[in-house]
Amino acid sequence: MDLRVIIENMPSPQDRYDLHTHSRHSDGTTTPAEIAKLAAGLGLAGFALTDHDTANGWDEAREAAAEHGLDFLPGFEMTTMHRGRNTHLLAYGADPQDDEMAALLQLLGGARQRRAERMVEKLAQDFDITWENVAAVGIRAIGRPHIADALVRKGIVADRDTAFATLLSSKSPYYAYAESVKTVDAIRIVCAAGGVPVLAHPAAKRNRSVITPAELEQLIAAGLLGVKMNHPENSPELLTELQRTVADFPLLITGSSDFHGAGKINRVGEETTAAETVLRIRELARIKH
Ligand code: AMP
Ligand code: ZN
Ligand code: FE
Ligand code: FE
Repeated sequence: MDLRVIIENMPSPQDRYDLHTHSRHSDGTTTPAEIAKLAAGLGLAGFALTDHDTANGWDEAREAAAEHGLDFLPGFEMTTMHRGRNTHLLAYGADPQDDEMAALLQLLGGARQRRAERMVEKLAQDFDITWENVAAVGIRAIGRPHIADALVRKGIVADRDTAFATLLSSKSPYYAYAESVKTVDAIRIVCAAGGVPVLAHPAAKRNRSVITPAELEQLIAAGLLGVKMNHPENSPELLTELQRTVADFPLLITGSSDFHGAGKINRVGEETTAAETVLRIRELARIKH
């Protein structure tokens, strides 16, 4: 065994990007600047900020990236529906000022908030919890993480993971669905706004089954350009099946952490994307930095 060859073939952090992170602008617990600091500490080439339904953190992330000599790719994540599947869609370099794009982000942000309100109303019938306990000032995209943290603060559950596994799980009577949009429509809007649409984590454990080749084909016909394969929450079985499905299509392949700060174990840089893939994304994106 030639150790020199193995070391040379190891991906170096200077060529790697974390393309899926959340900050306090949605449901992460850190600022974009803290994400930049973590990425720089690891020696990564750069990162993307992909808060839910918003581009509000981009300026802060851009500035912090420049301070640390990092490359920044702007993005966001949207929760959509494809044939009964809850489908998270990442979009890179889409213009958030584009009329349809802006309207979609607004719609999804509103739906997220109303859904959280409905869940808190249900919980309030049985537990000592109010909307005021959940919604801290300045937080956008109030979702289950914020409800979970309020349940923890009130001593109703032990920690955030327990909240997600019990009271906030999709099988819980306190769960509520958000109004959503079709993934194909979101993909078309992202493409028209100059963005690069990438499926966020189709092999995550929480999925009951993997997207079928026919379903993937429909998304590609709408303009889907990539699939995130490497994700800390993947189920090995689902990933193997997804790898077989994706192999038949010319797609950009990414990997990223889905960092949310404290309260979720995913760490910055835990999964990463190759610099050459970021180059391809950037060639296609309207907002490149
Ligand atoms: P929601 O979008 O409101 O349904 O809540 C799900 C979001 O919470 C996803 O973006 C998850 O990544 C995030 N999340 C943060 N912390 C956790 C956790 N401990 N367990 C599961 N999901 C979490
Ligand atoms: Zn999130
Ligand atoms: Fe997601
Ligand atoms: Fe995410």
